[in-house]
Amino acid sequence: MAYVIAAPCVADFSCAAVCPVDCIKPAPDAHHLEQLFIDPDRCISCRACVDVCPVEAIYDEDALPGKWQHYAAINREYFAEVKL
Ligand code: SF4
Ligand code: SF4
Repeated sequence: MAYVIAAPCVADFSCAAVCPVDCIKPAPDAHHLEQLFIDPDRCISCRACVDVCPVEAIYDEDALPGKWQHYAAINREYFAEVKL
């Protein structure tokens, strides 16, 4: 199961800097976004990103708090659009 970035994300790129498979986007020099997203097809569920997030915005897809359940689809859809 992939990890998912949810609502508290403040886009400080701490997670992207430690991800061993570079599956958190967009890159810092890309267009501004209010949050980052994890590619569920590439995430290897290593948890490295979870430990560096200052606002506890990253969860295992199976452990997302109820109010943020829809963020699994939001993360997935971001990459679906990028890959079009
Ligand atoms: S769990 Fe690991 S592979 Fe998945 S997004 Fe986080 S750092 Fe990257
Ligand atoms: S470390 Fe947390 S707050 Fe920072 S970009 Fe990643 S998910 Fe967002």
